[in-house]
Amino acid sequence: MTIRHLSETIINQIAAGEVIERPASVVKELVENAIDAGASRVEVVTAGGGKTLIRVTDNGSGIPAGELALAVSRHCTSKLTDDVHDIRALGFRGEALPSIGSVSRLSLKSRVADAESGFEITVSGGRMEGPRPAALNQGTIAEVRDLFFATPARLKFMKTDRAEAMAVGDIVKRVAIAFPHIRFSLAGSDRTPLELPATGAGSDGMLERIAQVLGKEFPENAIAIDAERDGVRLAGFAGIPSFNRANSLHQFAYVNGRPVRDKQIWGAIRGAYADVIARDRHAVAVLFLTLDPALVDVNVHPAKADVRFRDPGLVRGLIVGAIRQALSQSGIRAATSGAE
Ligand code: ADP
Ligand code: MG
Repeated sequence: MTIRHLSETIINQIAAGEVIERPASVVKELVENAIDAGASRVEVVTAGGGKTLIRVTDNGSGIPAGELALAVSRHCTSKLTDDVHDIRALGFRGEALPSIGSVSRLSLKSRVADAESGFEITVSGGRMEGPRPAALNQGTIAEVRDLFFATPARLKFMKTDRAEAMAVGDIVKRVAIAFPHIRFSLAGSDRTPLELPATGAGSDGMLERIAQVLGKEFPENAIAIDAERDGVRLAGFAGIPSFNRANSLHQFAYVNGRPVRDKQIWGAIRGAYADVIARDRHAVAVLFLTLDPALVDVNVHPAKADVRFRDPGLVRGLIVGAIRQALSQSGIRAATSGAE
């Protein structure tokens, strides 16, 4: 037996197995990069459910020509310095672009504010070429073609164009709810276009964006939540019990602006509604948790959708208590089974 060091491409492909599960995960990473770059407009275009094409265009800071090669290199990030517990940006692992480039044909075009021109770098199945000059406005265009062409085993797990296109739509909506001041659009031959114009600031803007995504009926059937306990703040909207759904796709949870799918949070929502919604039905809710980044670990899984709270009981109690209180104050028969 000989021990060898894996090639950079293989290392990236292994990482891609965790970070990039399907087209929607690529979209999530690229959109998060656009948000981290301070964009006010993010445009997403897909074809074939994102399997053949994903293009994300933003008007953010851009990447200087001299840093394009670093942007697609593993463990290179502009977002984290020395403290892994102080994570404020959506990205921080420096893993998305090299992972995507190792399993697809990635083109990254970018232009910074004071540059005379933009530049493009391409990575195809892990092979990097460029940078070379490219024409574009300030910002970044990330284009991903033929996702998983370099890892055919993974390609086999893709669902139909329709199913993948829906998952892409879901992730764009999920991320967009947390950033109402950013204009998002999603288009492509594989879908009906989605336009989410930027809204005003504050909680009105938040509610407007939620209505854009969930429909106007939700604000009319929801109660505002605003509670705080020991430095953890919970804001958002909880649907009234009669406004329930057959699945939990309509529950949106965010931790410091990051969309999460967290079993504890789902469990807390279920607990809050346990006495007023049938077991096989699901409440509609949009919850934003804000807390000191040091009190939550977002580095649990490469896709960054799981989080671990320093004090899970506190978070659960806050969610259950705030939703029950909101429901009872609005005259809806709330839980009588005692405090959490
Ligand atoms: P991470 O987001 O974890 O830092 P990525 O692989 O997603 O890792 O991106 C690597 C780096 O490339 C980022 O840290 C950032 O500096 C740069 N970058 C990527 N996308 C963009 C973008 N749309 N606009 C500006 N810079 C970007
Ligand atoms: Mg990123």
